[in-house]
Amino acid sequence: QISEAEVALFSVSSYACQRRTTLDNHNSNLTDALSLLAENAELNNEDGRGVAFRRAAALMKALPTQVISMSQLRGLPCLGEHSLRVIKDVLENGVSSEVESTKQSKRYKALKILTGIFGVGAKTADRWIREGIYNLEQLRHSGQTLNRAQKSGLEHYDDLNEPVTKAEADAIGEIVQKAVDSVLTGSQVALTGGFRRGKLTGHDVDFLITHPEEGKEVGLMPKVVAWLESQGFLLYQKTTRNSYLESKDGPARPASNMDRFERCFSIFKLTKGKEQETASHKIWRAVRVDLVVSPISQFAFAVLGWTGSKVILHQRRRYLLILVWSTSLHQREMLEVA
Ligand code: ATP
Ligand code: MN
Ligand code: MN
Repeated sequence: QISEAEVALFSVSSYACQRRTTLDNHNSNLTDALSLLAENAELNNEDGRGVAFRRAAALMKALPTQVISMSQLRGLPCLGEHSLRVIKDVLENGVSSEVESTKQSKRYKALKILTGIFGVGAKTADRWIREGIYNLEQLRHSGQTLNRAQKSGLEHYDDLNEPVTKAEADAIGEIVQKAVDSVLTGSQVALTGGFRRGKLTGHDVDFLITHPEEGKEVGLMPKVVAWLESQGFLLYQKTTRNSYLESKDGPARPASNMDRFERCFSIFKLTKGKEQETASHKIWRAVRVDLVVSPISQFAFAVLGWTGSKVILHQRRRYLLILVWSTSLHQREMLEVA
């Protein structure tokens, strides 16, 4: 038995953006439990609960050693009553009963399967479940009308639910670089998303494209997409125009945390390497790829925004908001001007 005095107490900032978080996690038993409950909340459109569990999970991930006693958590920020209850359960019983019953529930399983289809969100999945659709088989036989994204998502379901490796991300990076070089010399491609944060796998690959000369990037996306399409690299693509250009009455206000950059949600057809080729019989696999184009003047902000993670971005906004509120009115006006 370890006495209370011997148990290390932690001191951490309550803002994820003010902490150093390494990739090794000493508390994966706790972060897995909290992340699953966050995911379940998000799948049920309970965003507030989702954020609370995500913050708690991010905090546990930032701790320098393994937590073995509730007393170590005294005074730590970001841990609500519910999260503490879950942590206590895991520390005492090895598992959280709430996590276990969630995992077993028919609704959670169906939400996972259905939202695992590219193009299907929590709302659509919920509607299908209410119509008695719990799996892909039932969906295929239901006669539901699927949009283009969902059809593609269903067709490439297994590939798209297989994590993307760093090697695959790099292979796609080379293709994107080649596309960009072919349509506008001097353009630059940056890997963003989870891979830029050092993750070894991801659910997709994210790229940001720009050109060192302001304005040259206008019209770049359709050309890149056309090149990729002509070379047979795309199984699906949907390009969303820059929202500045879209609105007729001046700049449009983007939806809360969406930015205004032109983007392309796509599915790439990636030819497999020799080793993987022999393991399965298919010589290619489908990979989700996000492309974003930004002018060079916005490039730094775009890299930040598209590198994430979501928790870091959410908390960075809160942190900056509090900084702004704690300054004088004069300074605040200056900040607004800036
Ligand atoms: P994964 O490895 O699972 O892909 P990820 O962190 O790369 O994890 P993504 O969903 O690919 O997650 O998102 C990458 C970044 O892009 C996130 O930080 C997110 O905030 C940002 N992002 C995603 N969608 C949008 C969007 N529509 N508008 C603005 N930013 C977005
Ligand atoms: Mn990503
Ligand atoms: Mn993405």
